[in-house]
Amino acid sequence: MDPFEYNANPGRVVFGKGSIQKLPDEIKRLGFKSPLILSTPQQVDQAEDLAKILTNASIEPAGTYTNATMHTPSHITEEAMAFIQDKSADCVVSIGGGSTTGLGKAISIRTGLHHLCVPTTYAGSEMTPILGETQDGRKATRTDPKILPGTVIYDVDYTMTLPTGLSATSGVNAIAHAVEALYAKNKNPIISLLALEGTKALAESLPEIIQNPKSQPAREKAQYGAWLCGVCLGSSSMALHHKLCHTLGGSFNLPHAETHTIVLPHALSYNAPAIPEAMEKLASVLPGSEGDATKGLNVLLENLQVKRALKDYGMKEEDIDKAADIAVSNQYPNPRKVEREPIRELIRRAWAGEPAK
Ligand code: NAD
Repeated sequence: MDPFEYNANPGRVVFGKGSIQKLPDEIKRLGFKSPLILSTPQQVDQAEDLAKILTNASIEPAGTYTNATMHTPSHITEEAMAFIQDKSADCVVSIGGGSTTGLGKAISIRTGLHHLCVPTTYAGSEMTPILGETQDGRKATRTDPKILPGTVIYDVDYTMTLPTGLSATSGVNAIAHAVEALYAKNKNPIISLLALEGTKALAESLPEIIQNPKSQPAREKAQYGAWLCGVCLGSSSMALHHKLCHTLGGSFNLPHAETHTIVLPHALSYNAPAIPEAMEKLASVLPGSEGDATKGLNVLLENLQVKRALKDYGMKEEDIDKAADIAVSNQYPNPRKVEREPIRELIRRAWAGEPAK
């Protein structure tokens, strides 16, 4: 066996349909009395639902801030910090996808408040000590054990309204975390097990969700997969795929989960010659792969009926060269040498929507 190091991230998970009813007990167990609730403007109903559950259990929320925004812009964090200033909140409860989780992390790291997180997409941010924040259009990412939410409640009931498009792309975003963990510089056998199990759960459940968005078993399986894949991102270094997505998202304002979805098969295919063992294992958990993991991802994306071209999200052809230049600068550790010409071709294919080979 190759030598390895392994750190388990702490954090408590409460999983299962209806588990939101345990939120008051979770708060009381920690000795808190006055939670601040966070959501996006689109999920105010769910935030109000939480407030009711808490009030019925004699916990009075300190307030509800509903302006969480994609990529955790610093002016929103400042607004939320001003909102809580006179509220004497003693913990934070976030309900939503990666955007709301991000705001919960931003407040928690600034104030030291315990963060209880109720994820409603499959992005997996709730399992990572990573926070990306945007200021003046630039995204800066930092990692700190204190950023990791302390409690995570996975309740399938709060995912039933997630539109199929976002179900598909946030799920593939999670798979991307697992894929890169299989060949990360600090890979280890425990995280690899989670990566394969998480990928399998998502690859099996996401197509089912597209066919039948009201399927609770499929949505619960996707949540389980998202959890495991989130653990992978939280425990491994990122490689080419994440570098490409950070470049494309950060410099060309492309949407987060959609960009991950388009780029993943291309990044995997680029690395394939350097990672035969990971390719074989990955192929074994991707339905329809016929032994080829890149094909397995192409089949998955076809079944999910997602857009495959970055140009569909507004990237211009003349941006391909700029993207290639940024992608090869300040590289993340990667199993295959990252060279400009093949990377430019990778980005061009992803821009044009040609399937990965
Ligand atoms: P999101 O949180 O931005 O949600 C997108 C939209 O869907 C929002 O309007 C939201 O309110 C809505 N929505 C979410 N759940 C819903 C539900 N169940 N029903 C109806 N509407 C719902 O999307 P996301 O893909 O989860 O998160 C993307 C963000 O997360 C990005 O900013 C990304 O950088 C970040 N992220 C961070 C990490 C990390 O580890 N730090 C990991 C993954 C993603």
